[in-house]
Amino acid sequence: MLAFIPLAVLGWATGALVNYLSDALPQTRRFSQPICRRCGRPQINLGYLAFPKRCSACGNGRGLRAWLVEAGYIAAAILTWLAPGNHVSFLAGWLLLAYLGVVTVIDIEHRVILHQMSLVGAVGGAALGGILHGVPRTLLGGVVGFAIMLLLYYLGIWVVRLRYRNVEGAPEEGLGFGDVNLSGIMGLILGWPAVIAGLTAAILSAGLASLIYLVIMLFKGRYSASLAIPYGPFLVLGIVYLLFFT
Ligand SMILES: [Zn+2]
Repeated sequence: MLAFIPLAVLGWATGALVNYLSDALPQTRRFSQPICRRCGRPQINLGYLAFPKRCSACGNGRGLRAWLVEAGYIAAAILTWLAPGNHVSFLAGWLLLAYLGVVTVIDIEHRVILHQMSLVGAVGGAALGGILHGVPRTLLGGVVGFAIMLLLYYLGIWVVRLRYRNVEGAPEEGLGFGDVNLSGIMGLILGWPAVIAGLTAAILSAGLASLIYLVIMLFKGRYSASLAIPYGPFLVLGIVYLLFFT
């Protein structure tokens, strides 16, 4: 049991870092100092960053996400230590999970995958992929992942144009270009041919989630034709599933 204490500390610290990056990067695109989301005052203090996660000036809390992310990483640290999977070392897996966490939180909250994050992911993904399955299969995986999602991206634009012809305020695109980048990163990490399994898992789980969401909305009588769900988290799910559960 004692061995779990450093793991819990690692999980907590990583969760706190993911929270910080998810707050700072979408706002300023750099490692700016943490500020309160309500009053904007700088918050470099443990009361804000650790406990009770409240602004020292106005008392505004950081919200449920900050707690969920930290709890999630504490659980993940213990689980990946006990069962690291067959593909990656604990350290490589942990760095990847931290990266994917920031991508997921920002995509859910802002519906965007930042280009800077994609660049970091491409470099890190290529390095990890190269170690896992050599350079040729890594590059082929990246190209295939990028190309398939690029096709879906243009298909999405085409469908949206057909559907919203002559409609004011129609959405520009079905899929974001960040999803295309992330799909390429998935391909680098998983390599060829595992990228196909990863993409299939992502697309199936996204489809299932859309269906469940649609049914709930229909039951609530709030059906709307524009069903915008962020796809990044499902690509992340595909990567995590293939790397840690197969
Ligand atoms: Zn405040």
